[in-house]
Amino acid sequence: MDAQVDKINVGIETKRMITIDGSEGEGGGQMVRNSCALSLVTGEPFRISNIRAKRSKPGLMRQHVTAVEAACVISGSECTGLAVGGSELEFRPGRVIPGEYLFAVGTAGSTGLVLQTVLMPLILADGPSRLVLEGGTHNMLAPPFDFIERTFLPVINRMGPSVSARIVRHGFYPRGGGRIEVDITPSPLSPIDCLDRGKPAGVNAQAVFTGLPFEIAERMLTRAKRDLADWPDDAFAVRELPSDQGPGVILMLEARYANVTEVVSGFGQLGVPAERLAKTSAARMNGYIESDAFAGPYLADQLVLPFALAGGGAFTTVKPSQHTLTAIDIARRFTGRAIGLEQQNGGSHLVSFG
Ligand code: AMP
Repeated sequence: MDAQVDKINVGIETKRMITIDGSEGEGGGQMVRNSCALSLVTGEPFRISNIRAKRSKPGLMRQHVTAVEAACVISGSECTGLAVGGSELEFRPGRVIPGEYLFAVGTAGSTGLVLQTVLMPLILADGPSRLVLEGGTHNMLAPPFDFIERTFLPVINRMGPSVSARIVRHGFYPRGGGRIEVDITPSPLSPIDCLDRGKPAGVNAQAVFTGLPFEIAERMLTRAKRDLADWPDDAFAVRELPSDQGPGVILMLEARYANVTEVVSGFGQLGVPAERLAKTSAARMNGYIESDAFAGPYLADQLVLPFALAGGGAFTTVKPSQHTLTAIDIARRFTGRAIGLEQQNGGSHLVSFG
């Protein structure tokens, strides 16, 4: 992707506008969310066209609209083109005002993805914030709450801020109705190195379900146990939620190390057998355990934004996903900073900033 810079007139000043073709790179909603976050922090306006052109239902979905609205609400930013189905946006950032905010996705759209959009701007704001986010908490193709709490936020907190998250109610697709609360004590982001995951500190597998037969969760765990043969029996547990939080089921596999925790999720889907879902999740977990990288594929793409804003530091990761490559490209455009990506001897990749 080549950076293109247009000029627009803002009063008597001439301000550049970053233009992004949303069909390039990974071509998903993350380009929109990361651009909003970067725009709020750097003050650079942007225009994005062909939004989510590579997705089966192109254009903005409800959850993307809520995410961009949230970015506008915390900052008084101006945005044109914001509508469900819209394929082009123009965003002129305002000043981020910390405080208490409630954002409801309105469908089972992911609360985690709304958080991704506003978290860094609020972390870098000049006062504390409290967010209440309503919608889905355990959605396919989005970070589930447990991943945010145990995998993502501990790294962010090592960079300086103090961010804590609680889940009040689970929300599964298609019903939604979940609620999470996030408290943010701001701080500049310090560059850190996350090169080594440290010594193993434990594992566990949880099948969380509600409004579905117990047997589905049990079959998931039985299959996961088979493929994670060296995990102890007492690491596997079923957890049933109150029935008004469902229906839904998710398998979460967790591997803890001294410096990082990886949470791999398998989201229950109509028509996908419990065993197949567990087999895929266990294979992904085994892939991570066998690598020596700090970050799994999802953590990697999510760390690009905070590391780019910190302007330094580095992390190691498994083979970079398209999401990671695209996040790097977008972050380079807004910050103008170099981001290096290089394969290391052991097979992991080093992503370095500044
Ligand atoms: P997009 O597909 O562009 O909307 O971006 C999806 C975002 O959700 C990316 O930041 C992914 O890292 C994140 N994500 C998707 N699936 C998972 C998962 N199973 N665990 C953690 N994060 C996820």
